[in-house]
Formats: sequence, C-alpha cells, structure tokens
Amino acid sequence: MIHPARLAIATVALALAAGLGSATAQTPPTSAAVDPARIEDLVAANRILAEEGVLDAYGHVSIRHPSDPTRYLMSRSLAPILVTASDIMEYDLDSNPIDPQGRRGVIERFIHGEIYMLRPDVNAVIHSHSPAVVPFGITQVPMRPVIHVASFLWVGVPVWDSRDVADPASAAMLVRNAALGRSLALRLSDKPVALMRGHGNVVVGPDVQMAVRYAIYTEVNARLQAAAIAIGGPINYISAEEGAARDKGERDFARAWELWKKKALGK
Ligand SMILES: [Zn+2]
Repeated sequence: MIHPARLAIATVALALAAGLGSATAQTPPTSAAVDPARIEDLVAANRILAEEGVLDAYGHVSIRHPSDPTRYLMSRSLAPILVTASDIMEYDLDSNPIDPQGRRGVIERFIHGEIYMLRPDVNAVIHSHSPAVVPFGITQVPMRPVIHVASFLWVGVPVWDSRDVADPASAAMLVRNAALGRSLALRLSDKPVALMRGHGNVVVGPDVQMAVRYAIYTEVNARLQAAAIAIGGPINYISAEEGAARDKGERDFARAWELWKKKALGK
C-alpha cells in the first residue's frame, strides 16, 4: 500500500508537471499526421453528400482520427460542397478544436464528439438535414426499409426530440453543447441512423464510405416509403429476417464509392 503522504507528494508532482506543460506549450499537441488518402475521402464525403442532396449549405461529416481514437477530424464551418483538405480541423472528444488556426468550427460539433465517446465501433459520423427524412421525425409513422439497399434500417430508426433534454439550449433545437450531444448519442444507441425531430438525422458507420452509403440510402428510403404510404394500403416492408441476412451477405460497396467520388472530385 502506498503511504498517504507519498501519494500526496506524487499528486502534487503530477499537478505541477501538468501546469508546466500547459504553460510552456503554445497549443495542445496535435495527433500524428493523417494519411492524405483518408483526408481525401473525408473531403469527397462532404461533396458526395452535397451532390446527392443529403447535405445542403449545412450539415457535416467527420471521421475518427485514424491513429488516435480520442480525436476526430471535420471541416471548419463551411458549405460541404466547398470543403478542401485545408479546411479539415482536429477535435478532442469534448469537441474542443486542437489547433484551430483562426478557423471557426461548426456549432453542432458536439453530435460527433459524444457519439465517438459512446460508440467505439463508429469511425464516421454524418449530421444532415436530409429533407425526405423529416416527415418521419414529426409523425407517428416509423421509418422502415422499403428497398433492399436500405435494408440496414431493419434494426429500427429512433427519433430524438431536443425538447426531451432539460437544457436551456434545447428550445433552439441545435445540438450546441455536450449535454444535447450526449442525449442524441444515447437515443441513437447501437443503431446506424437516428432522426432528429423537425431537423434531420444523424448517420454513423464503421468507416466514412459506409456512413455515406447509409446516409444516401436513408434519404432514398424516406422518399420511397412516403410514396408507398401515399399509394395507400398495407406496405410489404423489407423484413427483419431479410435485413439480417443482407447484413451478413457478400458486399460490393466499392463500386458505388468509386462512382460517387469520381463525380464529386472530378477524377
Ligand atoms: Zn443541424
């Protein structure tokens, strides 16, 4: 057992070391350099989602830092179609920018940090105002898969309502602090998609390519489900059994990514 006096001395020494560290460092340490190919994919994701009508002037995409799981990377506050590699900023999981260099971060960055904290399986997060999903966040009809490419929705699509959070900022509906971000992350739970009432959605994936695919086909599914409801009568949804079988089946996602990236980056 460590003697209490020794423990106190050790604690003081640690505190001093920490104080000295913060006094001498001009900026907090940044993580190791990121492979430019990963940054290119993140830039491509921004532009792809804008071109596919998921993001407009608003909304954002992030990736977990490839070599530091306690950090994430996301563009400064900028319309996604305009994002370039030099706009990518690094954040810690409390959503503090590490070395902003005068760049302004997005207001709703807390969505990203709080999800990365709760979901170690998630390496990419998208927040969008994906228009076709909004009706499913304000009515009583749950979003369910109606097309095979959106079969991942079989696990259910929870709806988060900012009004359920006892926080003074909740009435303005934006996820502008950690408490609101945490509440949304808890509502998302282990799912790939959660709707945000009167606002949009959050989509997550094991990598940015999968998250982009989920975000695009969630928007497509919302349009098709609304069309099916408009036709009327019972709807023959994709079943849980089919969804689970497709989750385990052979995948050929690279084909779509190459197409989307070529269209978005012109190369
Ligand atoms: Zn938003």
